[in-house]
Amino acid sequence: MALIVQKYGGSSVADTESIKRVAKRVVETEKKGNKVAVVVSAMGDTTDDLIDQALSIDSNPPEREMDMLMTAGERISMSLLAMAIHAEGSRAHSFTGQQAGFFTDARYGAAHIKAVRPDRVKNALSLGDIAIVAGFQGINAKGDATTLGRGGSDTSAVALAVALGADICEIYTDVDGIFTADPRIVPSARRIPSIDYESILEMASCGSKVLALRCVEYAQRFNMPLHVRSSFSRRPGTLVVPDGIAPRTLPNLD
Ligand code: ASP
Ligand code: MG
Repeated sequence: MALIVQKYGGSSVADTESIKRVAKRVVETEKKGNKVAVVVSAMGDTTDDLIDQALSIDSNPPEREMDMLMTAGERISMSLLAMAIHAEGSRAHSFTGQQAGFFTDARYGAAHIKAVRPDRVKNALSLGDIAIVAGFQGINAKGDATTLGRGGSDTSAVALAVALGADICEIYTDVDGIFTADPRIVPSARRIPSIDYESILEMASCGSKVLALRCVEYAQRFNMPLHVRSSFSRRPGTLVVPDGIAPRTLPNLD
């Protein structure tokens, strides 16, 4: 039995049909005998829409209120996903960043994670529940909601995986992993089956945007294996692993 953290990005949970599809995949992973914690992004363009709404009211909104607003997106997707899992016949429990124990510094809109103490998530997993955690958010020392910067859910997922001692952190997106070039522009681009952190960081700085830079640095610091794959296909994706790890020893590769 493995402990798996799965992160689903905004395009994977863009509408209720997508959320139901993701729920099936989560439950399938659980049914294989794994413990599963899920980190979700906001549905589709929700975060952009919230920002537009805010700016249509106040061209210079207070940072605190902006973060309060933006954390709402992930609350919607986490609770709907928990319901979709319930409808599939499994038990799920959703947690905000605060409930999941994400403590950050005070930089609204670009907060850094200081500590993750996911006691409630651990408790849910030990009771046999699937835990769903809102990505991209935490609380500062004052107890106010903070966000981690755009694309921050990847970092939430890796930080949770590290704090839980997970065997792998799977990052589900809308492409089949990491390619040698953008396959939409370069048709001869090839999927990279397995790669180390350093090489990804080099690629990221020349514009690859499959993974948030900070998430890869976090994974590297704690040697957390990542599996980047599509939630729309069953293809194998890309493993981002420490040098010297035999990828076949990792769980849930099929
Ligand atoms: N929903 C946030 C964003 O769009 C966080 C994320 O998707 O990772 O930036
Ligand atoms: Mg998003």
